[in-house]
Amino acid sequence: MAASEFNQAVLDTVADGIITISGDGRIRSFNKASERIFGYRASEVVGKNVALLMPQSYAMRHDRYLAAYAASGQSKVINERPELEGKRKSGDLFPIEVSVTEVSHAGEPIFVGVIRDITDRKRMDRMKAEFISTVSHELRTPLTSISGALSLMRSNALGGLPPKIEHLVEIALRNCTRLSALVNDLLDIEKLSSGKVTYQMEFWRVEKLVSDAVDDNIGFGETFDVKILAELNGSEHEIYVDRQRFLQILGNFISNAVKFSPKGNSVRLRVSYTNAAARILVIDQGSGIAKEKHDRLFKRFSQVDSSDIRKAGGTGLGLAITKELAEQMGGKTGFDSELGQGSTFWVEFPLVSRDKVAVLKPR
Ligand code: ADP
Repeated sequence: MAASEFNQAVLDTVADGIITISGDGRIRSFNKASERIFGYRASEVVGKNVALLMPQSYAMRHDRYLAAYAASGQSKVINERPELEGKRKSGDLFPIEVSVTEVSHAGEPIFVGVIRDITDRKRMDRMKAEFISTVSHELRTPLTSISGALSLMRSNALGGLPPKIEHLVEIALRNCTRLSALVNDLLDIEKLSSGKVTYQMEFWRVEKLVSDAVDDNIGFGETFDVKILAELNGSEHEIYVDRQRFLQILGNFISNAVKFSPKGNSVRLRVSYTNAAARILVIDQGSGIAKEKHDRLFKRFSQVDSSDIRKAGGTGLGLAITKELAEQMGGKTGFDSELGQGSTFWVEFPLVSRDKVAVLKPR
């Protein structure tokens, strides 16, 4: 088999569309997957302008991009993986992911475009988001009513309960709280990925927020016999955040720190300032996290150990939500931890002065 035939055979087995075009935008080759994706035979498109495979609005710009690229070497697509739309022979538009690289052939630039049809992936994403949102809403209503009824029973408003039943009501109520935390996490994740979270950004004194976070979580700490302490020094520095969402971030760090600390221990909150930023640290002396697990931690549904969920409760969504919330408000998150040595989780926001607010709008 000649080398070129061999290469063609390889190209034709690839699942992604691979299209090469010359510097003036004409298609030079079109592999089998491209034929399947776009609905054209290679013989119909080779020699034609690649704009044929794009929606009108983009096709007009593409020639200009090529010309600009030839002049400046700067491209909008090369080395990135943007999501664009492709146009099939039937005229249908569909979502694609494209990456383009440039090679030089006989002194002439050739662009190699790798095209992935992401129609199915998009549809699945949409279905998943709708499913989560429906299920979460449908779960929330009955759950609110169950926990309302149980709270009423426990409150003695209906007369005292026999101790055995009171104990059962406690268990039921605790599990209601867990279930609604899970539903809220699922709703948050869904809203974050579809960009539906709105932020009420305001100036807040960092240390005020930190002491509020401690107050909010002291009760939770008590149930685990873990103290929550703030080490503050009275600084007046301010950050620009949505208060509720910021407290949610610290609340997640604190509740994890509490859950993974031994009884009688303390969790400490501290703020360290640099010129440009305030870093809020939540420090525990609990179990710590093994190095090889570090990469996964801020990903969705990651629990270091599946026994964690039984030991400590939780959904594995908390840190993913935390990271996303912080980033959408212009902050960063991170942690240091060693197995057996405790963990320090932190979130960092730029220090702001009130006249700079315009540049700090959340994404
Ligand atoms: P969950 O809602 O299950 O707590 P998170 O995303 O908040 O989910 O945390 C994911 C996992 O990271 C936890 O299940 C635990 O294994 C680990 N983890 C997080 N914080 C700590 C901590 N302070 N100490 C030890 N392990 C932690």
